[in-house]
Amino acid sequence: MFKLYKKFFSSLKMQVKRRYLMLWKRETIEKEISKRRGECLGCGECCKASFSCPFLFEYQGKLLCKIHETKPEVCKTYPFSKEDMFPHAKEKCGYYFVKNNDREPKKKKR
Ligand code: SF4
Repeated sequence: MFKLYKKFFSSLKMQVKRRYLMLWKRETIEKEISKRRGECLGCGECCKASFSCPFLFEYQGKLLCKIHETKPEVCKTYPFSKEDMFPHAKEKCGYYFVKNNDREPKKKKR
């Protein structure tokens, strides 16, 4: 139960912060999002943050968005930075961030 509260409040705090930035610090989002690489894998974890999005539905074992083509900016810009990633979604998310805009992260040595 404590885990659920923790997920709810930490996600809610992040959602409030990102809405504030969307409204008043748009340039911060644009700067940070330029360092984003990868792609959305459609896991739907970000759509199940503090509450499950009403436009989310399950189809053949996949989570899909009913309004994907016209979804709001706040959804399109998720995640705009590493810090913006919901803790519960970090592992599954297909996005990652580079430190410098023009450089890819160093590959792990094998
Ligand atoms: S958590 Fe990442 S990969 Fe999963 S739906 Fe959200 S943006 Fe896409």
